[in-house]
Amino acid sequence: MTDYSSNHSDGLRPATLLVHQGRDRDSFTGAATVPIYTASTYHQHGGRDGAYDYARSGNPSREQVEDAIALLEGGTAGFAYASGMAAIAGALALLDSGDHLLASSDLYGGSYRYLSTVLPRQGITVDFVDTTDAAKFAAAIRPETRAIFIETPSNPLFRITSLRAMVELAQHHNLLTILDNTFMTPLLLRPLELGVDVVVHSATKFLGGHSDLLAGLAVTADADLARRLKHYQNAAGNVLAPFDAFLLSRGMKTLKIRLEAAQAGAGVLAERLSQHPAVQQVLYPGLTDFPHRARHFAQSSGPGAVLSFILREPARVAGLLKRVRLPIIAPSLGGVETILTHCWSMSHAAVPDDVKASIGLSAGLLRLSVGIEDVEDLWRDLEQSLEG
Ligand SMILES: *Cc1c(COP(=O)(O)O)cnc(C)c1O
Repeated sequence: MTDYSSNHSDGLRPATLLVHQGRDRDSFTGAATVPIYTASTYHQHGGRDGAYDYARSGNPSREQVEDAIALLEGGTAGFAYASGMAAIAGALALLDSGDHLLASSDLYGGSYRYLSTVLPRQGITVDFVDTTDAAKFAAAIRPETRAIFIETPSNPLFRITSLRAMVELAQHHNLLTILDNTFMTPLLLRPLELGVDVVVHSATKFLGGHSDLLAGLAVTADADLARRLKHYQNAAGNVLAPFDAFLLSRGMKTLKIRLEAAQAGAGVLAERLSQHPAVQQVLYPGLTDFPHRARHFAQSSGPGAVLSFILREPARVAGLLKRVRLPIIAPSLGGVETILTHCWSMSHAAVPDDVKASIGLSAGLLRLSVGIEDVEDLWRDLEQSLEG
């Protein structure tokens, strides 16, 4: 078992924690990286419990990233899962049949799918509300409401929810707050410090950072929630495999320099796109005219490396996707390579068209996750693909 009580950052800063991750060498050999422990089971000396018994319950390779995310988010316990959706499912397993959940109306498409099609079959009712409006949110709380599930900035419309306002309401009504911190990462937003109960990540995105694995993480600073998350992770078995834990650990070591480079590039591209005649609007918290700029920077230390832009003529999306050369065109984000997503047909394909329309997601919107290529090459490519 992991000794969570030893999980403290010793005042180390994020760049250091990312590299050293709580355990930065193998305790057996001193190897500079934690080995990929593939064993499914562990010898119990004399039949007695050792530190590990069965790999679903605990594995040193997986624990490295679990400890790392706990340290980075300022939590006491981290959990690693086979995907971001598995982490979200693990966090939402804190709810019981008969409970009511409130969620941001503008969510990652896969989260929308899970909340709208799976949870109801478990007897959990879900309402999607505009969490950027505290009054609307408060009006949606029912006696059986147990939790809220939030994304900020929301994806892909960059609506900003005030976490302080949400946490205050949630604490007043005794609701659990769960936040998907995939877009910001613990380097730009530390929700547990603002009173959020459980933070989840699709580590497939920025934390892994190389578009070469699926992984999910959950973190909490509450001992009882940690115990329940651990119980479900072990009982359901949706754990991160050791090889993928190794890839994630390796990716996390460079998160700070990757994110800083990508964020700088995103700032340049957001500015230039917003001045391009073919572009109607750019949604990016780093722009001076971004509507919720002050609210975003009251809780986050940077704008991130993802932006959305809306074409004046949605019919030109197809031509742009044909002409663009550098970005991969795919439903993901957070990689070293720039990723361009047509959310309507890719990341949010699981959201019915009328729901997309009702939340303001249009067919002319493109999401750009800026990578770490040379920004001038990216701009030249975007510019040529916006012509014609
Ligand atoms: C990708 C993503 C998820 C789902 O993560 P997977 O690793 O693909 O399962 C959840 N939330 C957000 C914000 C995402 O971008």
